[in-house]
Amino acid sequence: MLNRRDILKALAGGSLFAFLEEAEAKKRTPIIRKIRCSSNEERTRIVFDCTGKVERKDIETKLKGNTLWLTVRNVRANHLVRKLRSSLVSRAEVIPINSRLVRIKILMKDPHKFKVFALRACRGKPFRIVVDVLSDFMITECETRKPKKRIVVIDPGHGGKDPGAVWPINSYHPRIKEKDITLSIALRVRRILKEYPNIEVIMTRTRDVYVPLLKRAEIAAKACADAFVSIHADSMPNFPDWSGVTVFKASPGLFAKAQLVAKKVAQKVRLCNDVMCWSISPLLINMATTVTFVESARLAETIVESLKAHVNEDLVNGIRDMRRNILVLKTPGRPAILIESGFLTNPKDRKRLVQSWYQEEVARGIARGIVKYFESLNTVAYVKE
Ligand SMILES: [Zn+2]
Repeated sequence: MLNRRDILKALAGGSLFAFLEEAEAKKRTPIIRKIRCSSNEERTRIVFDCTGKVERKDIETKLKGNTLWLTVRNVRANHLVRKLRSSLVSRAEVIPINSRLVRIKILMKDPHKFKVFALRACRGKPFRIVVDVLSDFMITECETRKPKKRIVVIDPGHGGKDPGAVWPINSYHPRIKEKDITLSIALRVRRILKEYPNIEVIMTRTRDVYVPLLKRAEIAAKACADAFVSIHADSMPNFPDWSGVTVFKASPGLFAKAQLVAKKVAQKVRLCNDVMCWSISPLLINMATTVTFVESARLAETIVESLKAHVNEDLVNGIRDMRRNILVLKTPGRPAILIESGFLTNPKDRKRLVQSWYQEEVARGIARGIVKYFESLNTVAYVKE
């Protein structure tokens, strides 16, 4: 719309023609119409729907404290605000500066890593500017500590709104919940390990609360834990015969698969390169390359050996490769294992799992295994010095 003042200004500037041209350009300038967002445990994605293409060179990013600023040239917008329900970002705001300049303000809860890229219009979706805010625990770097004090993260599976396996299956008021068993065993492990002044125990939960999987891995990474032990007692509805204690470790095969997926993601990014897509880094590759399979296997072996000594030997199944709960075992650079202390679908296990003598035996086996594993680490370290 041409208002009187604009026309006068243009005339004063000497060229109505130039002014009309500018008005036409203004009409073509894409508009940021809408803020959308989605969140999972790994990232929060904030999407800005635009009416047309925005050039990457027109976007500048600046991180100031907890605030990520995007300055976007050659774009228009009305003032937009969106509050986010995300563990990483609390608010996104589009602030119009003038008819060709917009500032975007993204308020994070802590300074996090971020990626900015764009997606071209396709399949009915408009051109989008995308900001991914990434959970950054996987870049935690641990100092090499003197092997005086060892840290183990004990992770009681499930909790809160996630009961894990239950018995009876499909019951609204199950008598047995996996989350209670895992917590009870984990607390016993902690109690036993307290007798060792050189071992520090960090729990992913000590109460009946829900802790997301990635949060658990984050706790392990941030603690720079020397070992991560997740405790479960799941159901095997198709294998009611499965019983006893089983120790799972991360397998290279599993991570090879994860890497493959990550590479596919990367290819996708490259494909849209000719139009415009930039700076997506496949999260998975970072993590997959740093998990120590050898150490995970050694930790698993030590714990199985110790379980055999503390729990009836026939009850201990040995080591299996982990095919699920990939997330929990994604603790970078740290050995991680998952222990099924029994299966709720097996009548004998069910009976044992709720009894304190059995929980105590399993806990002793796990605790003793952890101590032995740490002792072996120290031996290696002393030899080196
Ligand atoms: Zn479980």
